[in-house]
Amino acid sequence: MKVGLVEWDEEVVTDVLNDRDQSLVWKIPLSSSSTSDMWYWLKDESGMFTIKSAYAMLQSLKTSSILPDNSGFWHQLWQLKLPPKVLNFLWRASSNSLPTRFQLSSRHVPIDSTCPFCRAAPETTLHVLMRCQFAQSCWNIINVPMVAPGAMLFSSCVTTALVDGLNVQSGDHWTTPDLPYVKVNVDGTLFTTQGRYGVGFAARTTACLVLAARVISKSGSLQPHVVEAIGIKEALSWSKANRWPKVVIGSDYIRVINDLQKFKHMVSPYGHILYDCKNLIAGFVDVSFNFVKRSANEVAHALARSSLCEADRTFSGDTLASIIASLVLDDLS
Ligand SMILES: [Zn+2]
Repeated sequence: MKVGLVEWDEEVVTDVLNDRDQSLVWKIPLSSSSTSDMWYWLKDESGMFTIKSAYAMLQSLKTSSILPDNSGFWHQLWQLKLPPKVLNFLWRASSNSLPTRFQLSSRHVPIDSTCPFCRAAPETTLHVLMRCQFAQSCWNIINVPMVAPGAMLFSSCVTTALVDGLNVQSGDHWTTPDLPYVKVNVDGTLFTTQGRYGVGFAARTTACLVLAARVISKSGSLQPHVVEAIGIKEALSWSKANRWPKVVIGSDYIRVINDLQKFKHMVSPYGHILYDCKNLIAGFVDVSFNFVKRSANEVAHALARSSLCEADRTFSGDTLASIIASLVLDDLS
């Protein structure tokens, strides 16, 4: 490690260790919160053992695990703030267990499988709730646009609707912060071939185009959510050094933003980075973490991508590369 810093010394690591050990070292994210060695459970991002994660691990070992992992979809569905009977109906429709005519006839119930409304197609869940002319006329009355026209399953329509709903909430475009807040957009990126990762962040206020921006690139083979958390930690540390008392952090990684908003106990290296972020917050008057769409985070994304060439550099609004300066102007249009 570098003397006096919590950071791997790239020269020493590459000089002293063999290739196998080097690759293991580059997978370890460092944090100033972790002071001693400890055990943690690899199969849960919190590092804590849970029966749920052990069950998921055992299930993944079975051959049936070739089925797609829909746990994120179900989690999102059950998080919706809807009456239980509506959620229950959505669950039954998405898991294709409604007793539609097609479903009944495929279970050898002697029944005509044709849709009774239009008589033009079999009455599947997707048809009767989305595709049928009758269903569409109902959706039209309440002005709900058609989602996922090419979907083959009802659950695919719900997935699209969930994503669109999320997008509507977060907004398509970058927005200026309220005075006196500084908005810091952050993004992380992996350079897998080079065994490096990079983060970029840009600080903007209502009054100026770009207050300052920074890129950092380091050796490491980390997971994307860990890199994003490191980016937010670096952005907080940088904002603190700049003495900005009120900061809004924007990131397009919803999982990391959720973990920062609903802070829970974690013993994993990822959890330690979140602890670092929490410790840094203490020095501000106000900090908030906001999920933003990728289209509202283009400047930070371009900065992170450029970190492979720039390594570690701070920019003022005037010294930004022309491609990034044009993205800043796009945000204002
Ligand atoms: Zn029909």
